[in-house]
Amino acid sequence: EADRALLDADWDDLDAEPAPLALPVLAVVGRPNVGKSTLVNRILGRREAVVEDTPGVTRDRVSYPAEWSGRDFTLVDTGGWEVDVAGIDSKVAEQAEVAIALADAVVFVVDAQVGATASDERVVELLRRAGKPVVLCANKVDGPAGEADAAFLWSLGLGEPMPVSALHGRGLGDMLDAVLDVLPEHSAYGEVRPDGPRRVALVGRPNVGKSSLLNRIAGSERVVVDELAGTTRDPVDELVEIKGIPYWFVDTAGIRRRVHQTSGADFYASLRTQAAIEKAEVAVVLVDASVPLTEQDTRVISQVVDAGRALVLAYNKWDLMDDDRRPYLEREIERDLVQITWAPRVNVSARTGWHTDKLVRALETSLESWDYRIPTGRLNGFLGELVAAHPHPLRGGKQPRILFATQASTRPPRFVIFATGFLEAGYRRFIERRLREEFGFEGTPIQVSVRVRE
Ligand code: GDP
Ligand code: GDP
Repeated sequence: EADRALLDADWDDLDAEPAPLALPVLAVVGRPNVGKSTLVNRILGRREAVVEDTPGVTRDRVSYPAEWSGRDFTLVDTGGWEVDVAGIDSKVAEQAEVAIALADAVVFVVDAQVGATASDERVVELLRRAGKPVVLCANKVDGPAGEADAAFLWSLGLGEPMPVSALHGRGLGDMLDAVLDVLPEHSAYGEVRPDGPRRVALVGRPNVGKSSLLNRIAGSERVVVDELAGTTRDPVDELVEIKGIPYWFVDTAGIRRRVHQTSGADFYASLRTQAAIEKAEVAVVLVDASVPLTEQDTRVISQVVDAGRALVLAYNKWDLMDDDRRPYLEREIERDLVQITWAPRVNVSARTGWHTDKLVRALETSLESWDYRIPTGRLNGFLGELVAAHPHPLRGGKQPRILFATQASTRPPRFVIFATGFLEAGYRRFIERRLREEFGFEGTPIQVSVRVRE
């Protein structure tokens, strides 16, 4: 009976459901060794040793899904980032600047045992300028005796220092409650305005040709911003008109400005890439076609997929391509890019301008898929036939039944399947594969999740 009610539900109502807004972003910043990584691991409930990262090695990720008191948010982790002792202040500031720019609220970690240092003061200055909500975490207060140390940090002018021991978990709950008080419900940062020009991130490891491609695409067509009435802009973004259509290229300042190679620069670049991706609707990941694909390339691709953004893969420097390299390239694509066979691949040359028009068409295709909504009636018709022809395998005499499905959001398309039991991962992947076969979704990640209904 319950099934019938679900199937008779008013699909139009479900289709009108607005896309969920981006989760608020909380960044943990502070100078090295104050306990940021320890704190992040505490919040995430990770048990493994904290400081296992090799100094200077780029982490896979900088942001993680987190939860406290039933509220979900995205946690940006800037720990594990090594800096040279010389010039430490400016590096800390630089790192913090990007993290703060990404965030809706900030946890500023200070080592209460050490007290406020000049490095800390510089971050305070940045925080004040950014004007974002801040919770001051007085870390390493391992027992009541340390409370006095924490009180000294009132002098930073950031309000009440919250005494915490990231190591033992002491005071963590109170601090997170204070965070939730200031953390907005949704991210203002990842907000996608449907009316404005589409937002494009040009990303890839150093020297793949990002700035060359940007110059090639922008060329003489750079738009004077005043021409587009009513647009507000971030000074690091650039409005570029391509065939009469304006696009925002995000964080072009980061592309044009050469980041000096110091230790930690990798991590800094990775954070910046992440920021650009989060800000964009579609990311063009540029790789150098003339050399083997590296782990750094695939990492950037994963960042795009994890962030749920539309994706275009551009093989640049195609002018350098020769017959010797080609078979290797094909094999690399088969081996390393199997997870993203859905992403359009375009061979380009930023040097000659070859195929940049194709790149733009691929952008449009990926964005269309990213925006696409399958009407609920059609989705369930498709799923009904699929399940009838290929039922979920029987396990221990039981077989979960699929009740119905809905596309919970677009940008990217997210599907929720309601079933009477848990669906095996293999079966979920099978559904995802068939969804793509039927509906395309070229250039966008899609997500399929399952809710169990008794
Ligand atoms: P990060 O560089 O800011 O990420 O700092 P880490 O999380 O790597 O911590 C630096 C050092 O401080 C490590 O040896 C931690 O074990 C230690 N530490 C972190 N939190 C605490 C704490 O609450 N109390 C004490 N006593 N030590 C801590
Ligand atoms: P970025 O670090 O990703 O911004 O890379 P750049 O745009 O600075 O390019 C790095 C180097 O690759 C420069 O020497 C460029 O001239 C060169 N380059 C960029 N695109 C191409 C291309 O399509 N073909 C060739 N042959 N060289 C290119």
